[in-house]
Amino acid sequence: MKHLLILLTAAMGLVTCGNRPAAMPSQTQEPIFNADSAYRYIDDQVALGARVPGTDAHTQCILYIINHLKACGMQINLQQGTMTNYAGQPQAVYNILARLTTPQIESRKHLLLCAHYDSRPWCDEEELYENRYLPVPAANDGASGVGVLLEIARVLSDSTHRANLTQPIDFVFFDCEDMGTPSFYTGMQREDTWCLGSQMWASEMVRQGHQGLYQYGILLDMVGAPDATFPKEYYSMQNAGDYVEKIWRVGNELGYGRYFQQQHAMPITDDHYYVNLLGGIPCVDIINYDARQNTGFPAWWHTLQDDMRHIDKTTLQAVGSTLLTVIK
Ligand SMILES: [Zn+2]
Repeated sequence: MKHLLILLTAAMGLVTCGNRPAAMPSQTQEPIFNADSAYRYIDDQVALGARVPGTDAHTQCILYIINHLKACGMQINLQQGTMTNYAGQPQAVYNILARLTTPQIESRKHLLLCAHYDSRPWCDEEELYENRYLPVPAANDGASGVGVLLEIARVLSDSTHRANLTQPIDFVFFDCEDMGTPSFYTGMQREDTWCLGSQMWASEMVRQGHQGLYQYGILLDMVGAPDATFPKEYYSMQNAGDYVEKIWRVGNELGYGRYFQQQHAMPITDDHYYVNLLGGIPCVDIINYDARQNTGFPAWWHTLQDDMRHIDKTTLQAVGSTLLTVIK
């Protein structure tokens, strides 16, 4: 932890927003999502190696996200704590919190935008037994949601768009979403071993009495695959149905109906579940669900194949443009 804090202190305030210039700086009044930037932010994360908690790549990813947000002029807080992992051992958790606001809107209800940045330590959906102990590259299942949010942060932190914000936006990058019990574990399988970062964040937020701060939240998970489909997930509909309908309507109006499909999906244990359950914040999950698969997720989910080959700029554009339109 000490090592991490020294690195973080050294990293603060070193770069310009976006880490590198976007291909097309926006001059218009409308915020424009740049899928090339989002793609690069995903590629940069994957290039670090699997961001498994406790590894150097994980620390470097925290620094990468913080540097980007800091350069966007946002208030940042690294939330640290300890949860219990699937084997009953203590698990260090680092959530990254950042706020985009202006004095004019500070008293309004906040929008929560979130994604997990950690990589799953095990490819436990691999066919070959020996591969199941290798970490997931996590291009889609981790980096994609972060990449889209970093691009949204870059666009909205531009002075023009920032001045036009209608409510404060809290970005939360959850740790340890994918630390859930590995399928090869011989002990008990427990659902609450997933989403450790969001469990910690939601509990702490309530403990501090901040649950009234938020209007609603949007979680992004696996939002980069070329053939992605985002059905209306059960818990999202139960807790934040009006927001689901609005997001899906906007997505369809923008011509992205092949992604934002008018179908419903089974309950999915993801960070939004705990934001809803523990935090009391209506939260929508935009997640790639594939009803053709037994797992409900793409065939390469939690395998070594979750790499940049499954990241598509058209999908990123669909998600990013839809979100920017919903936000304004
Ligand atoms: Zn996962």
